[in-house]
Amino acid sequence: PAPEPTPLTTHHLQAHYNGFTALDDVTVTVPPGRVTAVIGPNGAGKSTLFHCLAGTHHPTHGQVHLGPHDITHLPAHTRTRLGIARTFQQLAVFPSLTVAENVRVGAEQGRTRDPSAVERSLRLLGLDGPVRALPAADLPTGTLRRVELARALAGNPRVLLLDEPAAGLDTAEVTALTRVLKALAADGMALLVVEHDLDLVADVADTVHVMAAGRIIASGPPDRVLDTAGPQEPPA
Ligand code: ADP
Ligand code: MG
Repeated sequence: PAPEPTPLTTHHLQAHYNGFTALDDVTVTVPPGRVTAVIGPNGAGKSTLFHCLAGTHHPTHGQVHLGPHDITHLPAHTRTRLGIARTFQQLAVFPSLTVAENVRVGAEQGRTRDPSAVERSLRLLGLDGPVRALPAADLPTGTLRRVELARALAGNPRVLLLDEPAAGLDTAEVTALTRVLKALAADGMALLVVEHDLDLVADVADTVHVMAAGRIIASGPPDRVLDTAGPQEPPA
């Protein structure tokens, strides 16, 4: 069944690290049934925004809402229970657990403990063959990224946050990832992708936000934002 339509939104977010302003007045919506991308140069604040949404960094000002609920001050594990799933830029699988066991961990942390979600996630990511029984330690990066994604999906999330999901993937793997992300959005999930790979962004995103120096400097559909403003340039 399609998840309930639930936008994740920020309102005038500010975030600081010891007085340094990493986010300044960031208002974005991550709507259901859409892929929203955030791009921009290193240090722009993309990961800080991601952490404020996931609950792993607390903003100094502004709010984060899930649907009508103010979740600004909720801890990360509570957000996971509410249906906000994430992957990690640095892969974070348990090396001694098998692929299927890693995915089961996600089911235990998520919104619902639906055992069929584990099998569905393994199938969606092509991990339902013999690889499911292998320890994660021995697997290549592309497979581990799929394990991470399957684990995030096993909790039946409404919102999926992805930090650099294409990092370390080859072309065929990026194509497969693109198909999965589009299928999830078509199913009603709200997706946020922080990504360097602009070909992936152009292919998968409905809306792109360009960040620089802690602010959003351009927003719109990829054909407009990527062609006119350029990913690293402020708008004219
Ligand atoms: P991006 O993901 O776009 O590369 P980040 O959100 O990681 O950007 O960083 C935004 C700014 O905040 C950068 O200038 C970075 O150096 C700074 N920053 C990030 N994390 C920390 C931290 N833990 N302590 C101090 N400064 C940080
Ligand atoms: Mg980053």
